[in-house]
Amino acid sequence: MQKVIQVFADEFNQMKKIYITNTTLPAGAAFRMKGKRVTVTGYTKSKKVMFQGSAAEQEAQRWANDSENKLPKQEKTSTRRNDGLPAGFEHWSVLGSDEVGTGSYFGPLTVASVYVRADQVEAITNLGVRDSKKLTDPEIIKLAKKVMADCPYHIVNLNPPLYNEKIQDRSQAALKALCHNLALSQVLTKIKPAVPDAILIDEFEQPRTYFKHLRGQDPVIKKNVYFRTKGEQAHAAVAAASVVARYYSLQMMDQLSEEAGMTLPIGAGHVVDEVAARLIRHHQDLGKFAKLHFTNTAKAQQLARSNR
Ligand code: MN
Repeated sequence: MQKVIQVFADEFNQMKKIYITNTTLPAGAAFRMKGKRVTVTGYTKSKKVMFQGSAAEQEAQRWANDSENKLPKQEKTSTRRNDGLPAGFEHWSVLGSDEVGTGSYFGPLTVASVYVRADQVEAITNLGVRDSKKLTDPEIIKLAKKVMADCPYHIVNLNPPLYNEKIQDRSQAALKALCHNLALSQVLTKIKPAVPDAILIDEFEQPRTYFKHLRGQDPVIKKNVYFRTKGEQAHAAVAAASVVARYYSLQMMDQLSEEAGMTLPIGAGHVVDEVAARLIRHHQDLGKFAKLHFTNTAKAQQLARSNR
């Protein structure tokens, strides 16, 4: 059985972290993970991901929620939009929003929104606040503390028990949208009567789909909302949000590791399966520490059984 889906760059990178290459890469591929029931291959240029094997359909389903909206035509639209931020945007007073933890089996989903006024942009940038993925943990801690002291912010953190409950009846993208909307609305309330020139969300899906997820919510923050992949490069507020979210997530990981009695690794690779299997063997409740809908759960259960 074979299934091919098209994804955005953000998701592609996330998949690359999850599907760790363990076999020969075909030409043009960025990753290829060969598993027992499914082999997953991601193609760098087209951002097409191929699932092969008896579990192809099932594994592709994990990502399929928004795939119908991820046709090449719309990806082009998104690129145009990215290029089309208003001139001088980087100097505006912007409320930025970003999340971490979506690709990590252990730990929370954390969204942070941070308001950076025009007169703070330079100082925040000069601190070295940039994409949290490029910073070390000690740097994150130092920078986050400075950002949180100087800028209004709000963090929405879903630790695994709450995450597992909320993901029951919605996709991860829908859950992310709800968290961003909540964090943004909280900061907007905190900074009143000031109003940001714009709101920038680090794009994880089509804006149209994002707002679809928010149907029925009150309020829906949609005025002056822009989306951009690599949003941290478009405005310091998204970089600051990325740093604050990572900082909070780190703290939660430490706390959860302590509760678990072992260091919980980030990501979703084989080491994660091993640690999850150890938790199972120690009769720990995985749902307290991990995002159970990931395929790691089944892999860990299998490992736990075979290592007995
Ligand atoms: Mn992001």
